[in-house]
Amino acid sequence: MRAELPKEMRAAVYVGNSRLSVETVPVPPLGPGELLLRVEACGICHTDLKKIEHNLLPPPRIFGHETAGVVAAAGAGVEGFREGDRVVVFHHVPCRDCFYCRRKLYAQCALYKKVGVTAGYEPAGGGFAEYARVLDWVVPRGVEKVPEEVSFERACLVEPVNTCLKAVKAVAPQAYELALILGQGPIGLLFTLLVRREGARVVTTDPIEQRRWLSARFGAEKAWHPEEGDLQAKVAALSGGRGADLVIVAASFPGAVQEAVRCSRPGSRILLFSQTSHQEKVELSGADICVGERTILGCYSAAIDLQKESARLVFEGGLPLEELISHRLPLEDIERGIELALHPDERTLKIIVQPQR
Ligand SMILES: [Zn+2]
Ligand SMILES: [Zn+2]
Repeated sequence: MRAELPKEMRAAVYVGNSRLSVETVPVPPLGPGELLLRVEACGICHTDLKKIEHNLLPPPRIFGHETAGVVAAAGAGVEGFREGDRVVVFHHVPCRDCFYCRRKLYAQCALYKKVGVTAGYEPAGGGFAEYARVLDWVVPRGVEKVPEEVSFERACLVEPVNTCLKAVKAVAPQAYELALILGQGPIGLLFTLLVRREGARVVTTDPIEQRRWLSARFGAEKAWHPEEGDLQAKVAALSGGRGADLVIVAASFPGAVQEAVRCSRPGSRILLFSQTSHQEKVELSGADICVGERTILGCYSAAIDLQKESARLVFEGGLPLEELISHRLPLEDIERGIELALHPDERTLKIIVQPQR
């Protein structure tokens, strides 16, 4: 069975200087307890973009972690998966036993921080390649089977949905609360869907008209251009003069967090989802937090205890997730995809790479 596998494949290798190069590399070897995945779809995520654009990690690496595909080969001793299974993989899996895991802070677990899927070189996700190797500690806990009727491009949204679901549970929107979501890119739009699902009212901002249109379609009561008019006044007018009960910061433009605080009521919750750069500094009035009794919280990455729930949400088809996908590109065009994601035009939302095309 494994003899039929090719020896070489195409992969988008991060080569430094903010560049990817699509090259021929060896198909990764398969060890005991591991899976070799034929990658059918992999989403381009903002964290990939940041790593590439700002050269955060030394080259060479093969990124891509929103990965769905077919099991091409299963290593010795693998239980529960076999060749031909359609799956989606998580590239991080926590140990469930350390100080942080016992407190459900899975993203802070030392094992979680290790990347468990690779297409060669230092493990970095490996989804931007024709084949990816799922390492042994990920196989039993970080792989979900994808039903026959669910497309691979939809399946690779399980990881981003998990990260947003985790954040929504952290802020627990209540029915009739007013939530302001700053940024309506693919992640902000997912938040709109998930917060609406909890029964809260949603208002949003984004400079791109097409995104505002989709935001309203997904249930936002108002979707504003962030620079048109006084956002604070507009939010106050919809909340009895108080401000938003809850703000989700799903964009990282300068001043985003200050804007969130300005538009929120005393005692509100403000969730930082896009502030992943150590370079981004936030200056706030201490009294807005202390006297204003606001809670600022951060949320990052996925939660293993929401893995099944996020898979179900994506697979059951209740959410209009296909509308989030704007581009499907062959691997050879990945640089164009990165460029588009960094500088989105009217139409750009989620970009999916299809390495088998
Ligand atoms: Zn991601
Ligand atoms: Zn742990």
